[in-house]
Amino acid sequence: MPPSDHYDIIIAGAGQAGAQCAQSLRQGGFAGTIALLGEEPVGPYERPPLSKDYLGGKRDADRLLLRKPEFWAEKGIDLRTGCRITGVDAAARRVTLAGGSHLSYGHLVWATGGRPRPLPCSGADLRGVHAIRTIADIDGLKAEVAPGARAVIIGGGYIGLETAAVLRGMGMAVTVLEAQGRLLARVTSPPVSQFFLKLHQSHGVDVQLCAQVEALTGQGRVTGVRLVDGRELPADIVIVGVGIIPNVEPLAAAGLACPNGVQVDAFCRTSDPHILGIGDCARHPNPFAGSDIRLESVQNAIDQAKVAADTLLGRDRPYAALPWFWSDQYDVKMQSAGLALGQDTIMIRGEVGQAPFSVLYLRDSRLVAIDCINNPKDFMQAKALIAARRRLDTRRALDRETDLRAIALED
Ligand SMILES: Cc1cc2nc3c(=O)[nH]c(=O)nc-3n(C[C@H](O)[C@H](O)[C@H](O)COP(=O)(O)OP(=O)(O)OC[C@H]3O[C@@H](n4cnc5c(N)ncnc54)[C@H](O)[C@@H]3O)c2cc1C
Repeated sequence: MPPSDHYDIIIAGAGQAGAQCAQSLRQGGFAGTIALLGEEPVGPYERPPLSKDYLGGKRDADRLLLRKPEFWAEKGIDLRTGCRITGVDAAARRVTLAGGSHLSYGHLVWATGGRPRPLPCSGADLRGVHAIRTIADIDGLKAEVAPGARAVIIGGGYIGLETAAVLRGMGMAVTVLEAQGRLLARVTSPPVSQFFLKLHQSHGVDVQLCAQVEALTGQGRVTGVRLVDGRELPADIVIVGVGIIPNVEPLAAAGLACPNGVQVDAFCRTSDPHILGIGDCARHPNPFAGSDIRLESVQNAIDQAKVAADTLLGRDRPYAALPWFWSDQYDVKMQSAGLALGQDTIMIRGEVGQAPFSVLYLRDSRLVAIDCINNPKDFMQAKALIAARRRLDTRRALDRETDLRAIALED
């Protein structure tokens, strides 16, 4: 096999996590060969602006790129775009590329993210039905945005709601259909769900909760959404934001454990000693969850990439980063830290509906998570307190004027 068919490290997936891992390896002094293989036609870019400034036309595609195109070659990283891995032979330490060629590796870092979960109903493949994951997805959607036209967004999670906000700003009539009884049900508490419901309604979005989609209708092109209760909503475009499926099939076929993502340990190692997993596709033991979970956030992609690079450099350091996330909708920035799981108390600092305010999640008086609405000060202070698992003086926590760090107790 000629030398260019072998790399000391192959990184599968040229997204946020893959790009960071390649950079961290070089920063850590790794001198071997690195290939960064991504199936998209462009180099690594940021996804968060896709449903925010890029959709809204406030940012160009060039400004989404994580690095200038020449960066990768300068660092001796062989970036191959338009390069899809279709198979992994773990015993031979070899990947198969679409087209049938092979590359062998010393170590493989799996960083393939996820793909939008398709709607399990008829009409999901009609023209005018859009997902929100890639630059190409947004370009396809933008081409169909027209003031006054009707968009139906299926899924009231962050991506659906951010898209709703931008499309309203572009003059579209927007309906959001959410199957659960509240928005953002998977990720936050009822008060925050209520805040976002009111926010979107005040901007003229028609939010329908407990709305079960039966089918998308139309001949060739979507013209409507039929609900299980028999109602049919007219639609010029439909946007589906109902979560992602981790891209791990080649690893599962190679015999690796992939229960909703590839299973990794605290060092991002899979059950195969030559394969690591990071980012949206990695199911990992999370100390803040107290169990194995997958996280879909930039912070997690970057932190796990750094951990994997350290593992490959022989500097074992377990993943223990505090999860955090943000979302921008209209003039609201929500910042969350920690995981709102297993709390016994929810406290609201300020008034829901009147930003700024924060929602604190406590377990045994310890701060485990926070959602901050236009409240960066609480967010910054809470991050440190959650990471240190500090208890709070809950009698003073409701006073928004008192700093959170001033009410942290010495255990
Ligand atoms: C619209 C949108 C808005 C978001 N907003 C936020 C936000 O505000 N804050 C936040 O923290 N997070 C946000 N996220 C989530 C964040 O972008 C992801 O968590 C992050 O991109 C994950 O990085 P990753 O490298 O694991 O996956 P990705 O960035 O998805 O990269 C994986 C790459 O692997 C490629 N790939 C897949 N399979 C193969 C294969 N077989 N062979 C080769 N290449 C392959 C994919 O094409 C992709 O380019 C948002 C995501 C989206 C889609």
